[in-house]
Amino acid sequence: MASDRPLTSPAQPDAALKVPRMQDRMTHDVWLPEETVALRSQAREAVEKRLAPHAREIGRREESADSFPWAAFRGLAEEGLFSVPFGADFGRGLTYPMLGTCTVTEEIAYHSSSMAGVYDGQCILVPQTLTFASPALRARLIPELVSGRTAFSFATTEPETSSDLTATRMQTVAERTADGFVVNGRKHWITNSVVAG
Ligand SMILES: Cc1cc2nc3c(=O)[nH]c(=O)nc-3n(C[C@H](O)[C@H](O)[C@H](O)COP(=O)(O)OP(=O)(O)OC[C@H]3O[C@@H](n4cnc5c(N)ncnc54)[C@H](O)[C@@H]3O)c2cc1C
Repeated sequence: MASDRPLTSPAQPDAALKVPRMQDRMTHDVWLPEETVALRSQAREAVEKRLAPHAREIGRREESADSFPWAAFRGLAEEGLFSVPFGADFGRGLTYPMLGTCTVTEEIAYHSSSMAGVYDGQCILVPQTLTFASPALRARLIPELVSGRTAFSFATTEPETSSDLTATRMQTVAERTADGFVVNGRKHWITNSVVAG
């Protein structure tokens, strides 16, 4: 941990928070960088405006292609929350992107665990996977993700293997063809599968 980074003091809770919570003072501010505290303020306002009014309804719906909460999803994207994990080439270029992404997830989860799961897929699992993608694929996909035009999904879990993703347990196979790859196998627990692009 860098010793010269600006830290907030637990004795001085973030005055910019329009919706303060007890835990901000008790725990969250103790070691958070100022960058993350400012992001949390912005995320909390965005979530209050774009998600909170719909959260109860989202939590009650069965998951289906028709019920996906596009308005809240794209609202969070418009507020810039999907850009948090990325460097300056595609996103915010934060000094602490991982901490920022976790903090935004926490703000979303306060109102909707469903949407926090969606944010997890879109902004943690998929960006982590795209770390290993070619520059061309990153340039094609990340703007789609950050803008919220496309909902992404992440499919590793299989009926016969979940935590254990070793090659001897995984049954899905990718075969190279003239045009690319053909992927065959069965997956389940796929967040956003009903609407993913
Ligand atoms: C709400 C929700 C959303 C999800 N979304 C997705 C998604 O979008 N995409 C996706 O691919 N998956 C998704 N999953 C699946 C999730 O990744 C799996 O649930 C997770 O990998 C655990 O698998 P499992 O539940 O089958 O438990 P298991 O793998 O059966 O594990 C059961 C228990 O055994 C322990 N265990 C397992 N293997 C070992 C070992 N070798 N040694 C010691 N202990 C072990 C585990 O820690 C756990 O406590 C989602 C799950 C949930 C609940």
